[in-house]
Amino acid sequence: MNNRSAKISALPHVFIFPLPLQGPVNCMLKLAQLLSQQDIRVTFLNTQHIHQRLLNCTDHTNHFKRYANLRFETLPDGLPEENPRTGDQIVNLLASVEIVAAPIFRQMVTAGDYGPESEAPVTCIIADGIFTFAHGVAAEIGVPLLYFDTISPCGLWSYICLPKLIEAGELPFRDDNLDEMIINTPGMEGILRRRDLPSFCRAKDLDDPVLKVILKEDEHIPLAQGLIFNTFQELEGPILSQMSNICPNIYAIGPLTVIENARFEVETTMSSTSIWKEDMSCISWLDVQPARSVVYVSIGSLVIVTKEDFLELWHGLVNSGSRFLWVQRQGSVIGGLKGLETPVELAQWTKERGYIVSWAPQQQVLAHPAVGAFFTHSGWNSTLESIVAGKPMICWPYGVDQQVNSRYVEQVWKLGLDMKDMCDRVVIERMIKEVMGSRKDEFLERAGRLAKLAKASVEEGGSSFRDLDRLVDDIKSMRIQAASGQN
Ligand code: UDP
Repeated sequence: MNNRSAKISALPHVFIFPLPLQGPVNCMLKLAQLLSQQDIRVTFLNTQHIHQRLLNCTDHTNHFKRYANLRFETLPDGLPEENPRTGDQIVNLLASVEIVAAPIFRQMVTAGDYGPESEAPVTCIIADGIFTFAHGVAAEIGVPLLYFDTISPCGLWSYICLPKLIEAGELPFRDDNLDEMIINTPGMEGILRRRDLPSFCRAKDLDDPVLKVILKEDEHIPLAQGLIFNTFQELEGPILSQMSNICPNIYAIGPLTVIENARFEVETTMSSTSIWKEDMSCISWLDVQPARSVVYVSIGSLVIVTKEDFLELWHGLVNSGSRFLWVQRQGSVIGGLKGLETPVELAQWTKERGYIVSWAPQQQVLAHPAVGAFFTHSGWNSTLESIVAGKPMICWPYGVDQQVNSRYVEQVWKLGLDMKDMCDRVVIERMIKEVMGSRKDEFLERAGRLAKLAKASVEEGGSSFRDLDRLVDDIKSMRIQAASGQN
């Protein structure tokens, strides 16, 4: 046994660094929980902002006590506390993490408590795909890097095709026709129009800061030893097969919200890792609503809307005649709701047939029999949670991968309707009436079928179950390689 192997602890040690936002943190925490129950030590790196909110909003001690091998470390994200960390702030957040947090992360794993000379050195790094700096750090200590992009693989694949689109002259768009079909996204032929590409593709020039971040990510993704995705083969097989051309080692282990229950037979799906306080009163309200009568409305944790769109949405909901449960997240309306004149008829209807919360226990809501459809911003977690619950969707995407996800919901999986690029009360009313009424059976039938496939994928023998086994085996063999100094 050499010096190095003497220092390697008995357990493999995975260091997980998520993008500090609700969706990615949720996903990575689910992964951390799964790994930690399989004789893998996991250190989860949270920003202080996210960690404090987790502590404030969840039964943290109770939730995490069953995961003895899971520890947390925190570091600053570099943004002032009052920064809202909403969708429009992501470029600032990324820049700040790279300047302030990345050097601390590097120090921790190269020289600090988790460095090669420590008691329990890191044997594998799992980082968000957007953290291009993680590659250099992993290389410096000679451990494998796995990127986990928690957005949709179909969205990520469109990111990865950007250089091809630029080379072929499809980007930047040559004119304003957003309905022009996109050609240079292999595997997505006949599916994407310009308007279905991620929102940053509408930039007029290639110096756009978001485009630059994504192009840098595109260069780094293939450098990882493997890619982890929150999806399942039966949903995105063709995309995963395209993805394997740039990185042959793919682990599709989703839906992450249900795989832990299936594997360990513990009821964890409903336990929250939210950074907002969940208002459970909406479940009691749902309990007394008729079956499939309620539209659940949420735009996730980052989207912000104008007052005009907010009112348009409200009119559309009321005019549809459906009951609704609406998440109005604090800070999600630009300029706030103060001074907003509420039309009497909207207030009256909402009092009788609507319910408003500032944050909902979304998975429980979606699983509730009273919910008939989900009006969503098409974030990937929300989309997958809706698929698991077998609920059709009306999609109102805002940015990044959401444009691609909503197109796939309507065009490929045929689970609902895509309302992108508009917010008009008449359209909202029509779409809700279609999804809840005239086309209800067709959407429910497909959603039910896909929900069954999602569940089967995480059960023993299923595609995600097998990929998770392979991931765990690979992480364990990385420890052995580290111990024998092969890295
Ligand atoms: N969510 C929730 N309660 C809400 C709204 C959202 O728990 O009232 C959760 C939702 O279940 C999902 C996450 O927040 O897991 C949002 O992630 P997603 O990828 O859909 O969108 P993002 O917030 O990243 O835009």
